[in-house]
Amino acid sequence: MTIKAYDPSLIHRLFPRYCPCQNCSYYLDLDNYITLDGTYSVKNDSRKRQRLYCHGGEHRFSETAYSNLFGHHGSFQEYVQTAKMSGYGLSTEQIADVLERDERTICSWQKALSYKCKSFHLALCSLIGLTLISIQMDEIWSYLKKKKRQLWLFITLESKTKFWVNFELGSRTSHTAHRLLKNLVYLMPWGFEHFLLVTTDKLAAYEKAISSHFQKVRYAYLQIVKQRRKKRLVTVKQRIVKGQESDFGNKTKNTSYIERFNLTLRQKISYLQRKTLGYCKHQKNFQQILWINLFDYNYRQSHKSLRQDLTGESEKFKRRYQHFTPGMKMGLTTTQLEWRDLILAPIPENAHKFSTSTVL
Ligand SMILES: [Zn+2]
Repeated sequence: MTIKAYDPSLIHRLFPRYCPCQNCSYYLDLDNYITLDGTYSVKNDSRKRQRLYCHGGEHRFSETAYSNLFGHHGSFQEYVQTAKMSGYGLSTEQIADVLERDERTICSWQKALSYKCKSFHLALCSLIGLTLISIQMDEIWSYLKKKKRQLWLFITLESKTKFWVNFELGSRTSHTAHRLLKNLVYLMPWGFEHFLLVTTDKLAAYEKAISSHFQKVRYAYLQIVKQRRKKRLVTVKQRIVKGQESDFGNKTKNTSYIERFNLTLRQKISYLQRKTLGYCKHQKNFQQILWINLFDYNYRQSHKSLRQDLTGESEKFKRRYQHFTPGMKMGLTTTQLEWRDLILAPIPENAHKFSTSTVL
């Protein structure tokens, strides 16, 4: 049986339930038998939670144990609100104020959520497999620690599906570009069959990183060289590094998609708003917010340019558009996911390291 896309209702076929208790001898054992074992209520949550039973270790555990949120004293609604507010650029302090909680509590929720977002993304990409056709890479910068240092965010975006593939934080050097490319290759175990179009800006770091990591990939590489004089754009030149000009279609000979995406990110992540006080004080927090935003953007929110016209003309009281998330277009999910789907998904932290045969 092969699973083509993740469906929350079919989740247990792709990711079977396992025992998430680290001190149990059946921890992560996929041959273990797990069954539902009634519900229970918690003090802060009006909604009851599912209890499960681990037959191997003969103990019960909560459904929230699948995302390190067990024992974090919050309601589901609060976890979801924290995730949503983190995706709208609110700082931990502001979220703590809205939810009337301690800042450290919010921090611990964000940490747990971001870990889950990361393992979910990595597991889905590497187990179902990414099909990349045209990618654009770019970097945006922000300040770090009292505005004394610059921090760069390197991003890869698939331009057809608008899928945010991966990111890397660091200095604007080849070191960060190498890490970005290494992660990218890791995420596409079966993605080498397709011819890949790559577009970046003129940063030399990409060229070395791409040629050293894409040895098994058939690709064409185009650099967009922009010349600015007194901060005004003067000329835009295209430089083919590998392949031929005919490999690229008209819509792929630019870095516009990723530049538009950068704008979305600046809007949504307060750490990237340079002329404010919201710059990053700790790189770790930045990383966490980025993972939360990656899930939100790829799997939860529908993308305006991806919608499909159903009727052709506007008829009253009829659904006009079908909405897609980048993850749906990429073929990784079948529906728009909710934060609850993420929290309850039985995906261990290093699921992407399992070979597919043991998981399916
Ligand atoms: Zn167990």
